[in-house]
Amino acid sequence: MNSLVVMSVFAAAVVLRLVLRLWLIGRQIRHVARHRDAVPADFAGTVSLEAHRKAADYTIARQRLELLTTAWGSAVLLGWTLLGGLDALNVLVRDAVQPRWGDLAYQIALVMAVSVIGSLIDLPFDLWRTFRLEQRFGFNRMTPGLWLKDALVGALVGAVVGVPLLALVLWLMAAAGPLWWLWAFAALAGFTLLMQVVYPTVIAPMFNKFQPLADEALKGRVEALMQRCGFRAQGLFVMDGSRRSAHANAYFTGFGASKRVVFFDTLLSRLTPGEVEAVLAHELGHFHHRHVPKRILTLMGVWLASLALLGWLMAQPAFYVGLGVQPSLMAPNHALALLLLMLAGPVFGFLLAPLTAAVSRRHEFEADAYACRQASGADLRAALLKLFQDNASTLTPDPAYVRFHYSHPPASERLAALAGR
Ligand SMILES: [Zn+2]
Repeated sequence: MNSLVVMSVFAAAVVLRLVLRLWLIGRQIRHVARHRDAVPADFAGTVSLEAHRKAADYTIARQRLELLTTAWGSAVLLGWTLLGGLDALNVLVRDAVQPRWGDLAYQIALVMAVSVIGSLIDLPFDLWRTFRLEQRFGFNRMTPGLWLKDALVGALVGAVVGVPLLALVLWLMAAAGPLWWLWAFAALAGFTLLMQVVYPTVIAPMFNKFQPLADEALKGRVEALMQRCGFRAQGLFVMDGSRRSAHANAYFTGFGASKRVVFFDTLLSRLTPGEVEAVLAHELGHFHHRHVPKRILTLMGVWLASLALLGWLMAQPAFYVGLGVQPSLMAPNHALALLLLMLAGPVFGFLLAPLTAAVSRRHEFEADAYACRQASGADLRAALLKLFQDNASTLTPDPAYVRFHYSHPPASERLAALAGR
């Protein structure tokens, strides 16, 4: 492998991805703006012009921010790699940590330094999104104090969970021989399964309050639905989503004995009991069709392939040099290799975006169809319409943008499919 070839391929991919993304965002902004002043015929009786315009303005405002973050993200990526940011940081951390605390400490410190700097670089955009954009459209409920607390708790949990896993992977890379990537994959897969249990029961409650669903009438309905669907959950919970945002949602998490159904309080306050039942039936549709295990398996396939690839790349000096980093001769380069994979991998993974989005949209249709069999299709339509409006989702997205980025079908396609049932 030649470092000049690596560099050229990488730079071309970064530019190509950037151009494609900016083009799609531009299309979405223009398409939504063009349709801003007329409610589509299918929604003429149900959506007001005012709500339609708000959705258009909200979509455009978000896409404008997206333009900025996309351009900025590409600049930062080139800054880390070809412009030498990671190389300089590596030298700094290595010389400061390795002689005194050893190889493993140096590598953990390097990964932590990159993730802290990366978060700080994105910070202004996060703040702007929450306190300007979401605020302007009336969605933000977050106070600066809560935001800060979330950031600190999130960083702490990330460190407590992430550092031991990172240490384990780095140790395997050094000690497990040429097939280290198989062992590292097993560790990651085990960790992912463990998180399915730990996240809903331990981590999510650090950020939100979960209370058992108290509304007896609704509870009876929901339990009857779950019985019909053959779904056994450990509990029905209401989450105080309204503390942070007015956006509404429902989901179920965990597997085996840790399965639980979670309703956002913002959802319950807006929907009738029949509509809540229909939304839950949709979620159970995902369960029935095993969409979550399928997604986890796909993700694991991608990891396995990426780690196997890294096992080969890691031994090629051109991999490091081509991405702007000088590998060390006196210290292990495992952390560097992992960081380069994390930085450069998504540039190529982006090509898979239309495929994963299409699969995800198909799953939504399947879950909707299931919901119509188990609950009322009319209630599901009414609920979705309320949610589309409450979340100010545009009714007129650009078709190309949808194909590339939408994990859920746009309102028009989704309601049309439901109307046909
Ligand atoms: Zn869904």
